[in-house]
Amino acid sequence: MHKTIHLKIITPSGIIVSNDVDAINLPSSNGELGILPNHEPIISKVEMGKLCYTIKNTSVTFFVSDGFLEVTGSSAILLTDAAEEAQNIDIFRAKAAQKRAEERIKTQEASLDNYRAETALKRAIHRLNISSLK
Ligand code: ATP
Repeated sequence: MHKTIHLKIITPSGIIVSNDVDAINLPSSNGELGILPNHEPIISKVEMGKLCYTIKNTSVTFFVSDGFLEVTGSSAILLTDAAEEAQNIDIFRAKAAQKRAEERIKTQEASLDNYRAETALKRAIHRLNISSLK
């Protein structure tokens, strides 16, 4: 039996987290997902939002973008487009991204990629909410 689970968060920028943790909570397409050591093997779609993991009663909070999670008994691997620890979120950058996206959506220009703008807005809002939760 494993006492911890090895969490890896991998993005196009590299390996953001590689740690033995006690528990992981994250948003999946089926709602909030809690992962403990020796969890049954699963592959799940991950929704953009707040991921928390705990190590020895210390909780660490991350913003994660959409992705996929693979869990085996001893490891959990999250592949996602972006991940930042709450304390590393650049609030000014997120506010600027929010403003840019809101202005784009307001124009409703023929060339507007609405899905792209709405997703950028969602990322910015999640980042701002998570940074204030840290
Ligand atoms: P922006 O328009 O500001 O680039 P974005 O939502 O388009 O925002 P992403 O494509 O999600 O950005 O991320 C690109 C890279 O920048 C990723 O490595 C991500 O972790 C980082 N990043 C984006 N926004 C922030 C932020 N507010 N604070 C810290 N890192 C950020």
